[in-house]
Amino acid sequence: MNYHQYHPVDVVNGEGTRCTLFVAGCEHHCKGCYNQSTWRVDSGHLYTPALEERIIADLLDTRIQRRGLSLSGGDPLHPANVTAIEHLVTRVKRECPDKDIWLWTGYTLDQLSDSQRAITKHIDVLIDGKFEQSQYDPELLWRGSANQIIHRFDLSKS
Ligand code: SF4
Repeated sequence: MNYHQYHPVDVVNGEGTRCTLFVAGCEHHCKGCYNQSTWRVDSGHLYTPALEERIIADLLDTRIQRRGLSLSGGDPLHPANVTAIEHLVTRVKRECPDKDIWLWTGYTLDQLSDSQRAITKHIDVLIDGKFEQSQYDPELLWRGSANQIIHRFDLSKS
């Protein structure tokens, strides 16, 4: 997996203070996408074990309390990213159990393959669907267009 940016302290992508990773790779190619430079899976930088250790350490850092991890892009559920993202979210839930995970994807929940759906078992909030310019609404929280849905999962029931 490649990534474009990692923000160790972020207050604009999800609720509370968070760590945010923007990954590379997106096959949705939405008209009006704000992040076209992330579309190619080989763009950006290689996601390394060292960066994963950094993310875990930042989530556990008690000097700056983070509420959780946000995963955006690009698309974290692009088939090329599924293995690395599943590894990351599994680790976060095991090693940082009080942190929540938010994930933005261009797929809708009902379009997910079995391997993509397996990742949703470890995340708390999924914002799904392509960006539709005709439904763009700057007043919306956490999403760009009205077709996108914020799914809040109760992981205690899974
Ligand atoms: S899903 Fe997101 S990153 Fe991908 S093309 Fe659409 S707006 Fe851009």
